[in-house]
Amino acid sequence: MSTDRGPATDRFDRPLGDLRISVTDRCNFRCVYCMPREVFGPGFEFLSRSELLTFEEIHRLAGIFVDLGVDKIRLTGGEPLLRRDVDQLVGMLAGLAGLSDLTMTTNASLLPRKAEALRAAGLRRITVSLDALDDDVFRAMSDVKVPVSTVLDGIRAASEAGLSPVKVNMVVKRGANEDQILPLAEYFRGSGHILRFIEFMDVGNSNGWRMDDVVTAREIRDTVDARWPLEPLDPNYTGEVANRYRYRDGEGEVGIIASVTRPFCGSCTRARITANGELFTCLFSGTGHDLREPLRAGASDEELRAMIRGIWERRADRYSELRSRATVDLPRVEMSRIGG
Ligand code: SAM
Ligand code: SF4
Ligand code: SF4
Repeated sequence: MSTDRGPATDRFDRPLGDLRISVTDRCNFRCVYCMPREVFGPGFEFLSRSELLTFEEIHRLAGIFVDLGVDKIRLTGGEPLLRRDVDQLVGMLAGLAGLSDLTMTTNASLLPRKAEALRAAGLRRITVSLDALDDDVFRAMSDVKVPVSTVLDGIRAASEAGLSPVKVNMVVKRGANEDQILPLAEYFRGSGHILRFIEFMDVGNSNGWRMDDVVTAREIRDTVDARWPLEPLDPNYTGEVANRYRYRDGEGEVGIIASVTRPFCGSCTRARITANGELFTCLFSGTGHDLREPLRAGASDEELRAMIRGIWERRADRYSELRSRATVDLPRVEMSRIGG
């Protein structure tokens, strides 16, 4: 039953627990599975500055989400480190009482310069995306000239700044980078950092997704296990999206995120806000709920809280569980807007 106090819960009894905030829709990479250059080329219209939520607006909304049950916030994009002075936003969010986790997902190209400031501002952890150790494969995936060494420098800088262990996300796409599973596993084994393999997902409408291009979690696990035997680990907490494994020889752990072959909608507690203030209750939604308009029209905290609670209470999303049904073949928001 709906009340105006306490945590918000949706139609499947899933509480609101995590908030992902996209701080920009721009990116300096053009990953083929996210922002293919044919679509996100020179003519593409990104959001203008006035359309972006200001830091004050983000901070205010984040506080309301915390009131409604959110205790983890992740900053994302586009590339979040392209947003000017993003460390100031980190500092503002770090001051929110009730938050147990504040983190960021980044391609790390600017991390060597920014890790210290982020940590000093109060960032607690960081996730870095890295799809290959080989420069040619990396370039084919990211479609930019940034070398792998820059990303590795970024991971090192984050670690030295105290944002350790770093989580490293590798999206695996068949025919593109599956030959990089073992090199990346080898590189991060024993490093203290946690490599996580992610099944290629059908987010958005522009990445040409086909089921045939998905290297399944099972294939990934078998590939690693055949080289360095693995054993399953218990989740760190209920609803953890990665299936965790440890190397039997004690060289650390890896995770596999099976969004396609083993959907986890049943425990999905994530809300997402785009850089222009639209609330999405599922990564695969076609439309969001505009929070910027009421925010700028002078809505009070109570009004915004009631609005967000109402949206969450009506939530019945479970796209990944329904993926195979024809009824879900509808327009979807792009990953670079919603932020993963
Ligand atoms: N630019 C930052 C980065 O790449 O880390 C943050 C935004 S990015 C959209 C967030 C995450 O989504 C990245 O780890 C990226 O690899 C992942 N991602 C993007 N498109 C994906 C897809 N089609 N399937 C699976 N993961 C995807
Ligand atoms: Fe940019 Fe991240 Fe998307 Fe790659 S995955 S294009 S780095 S937003
Ligand atoms: Fe959550 Fe939607 Fe992904 Fe299911 S498909 S896990 S509801 S974001």
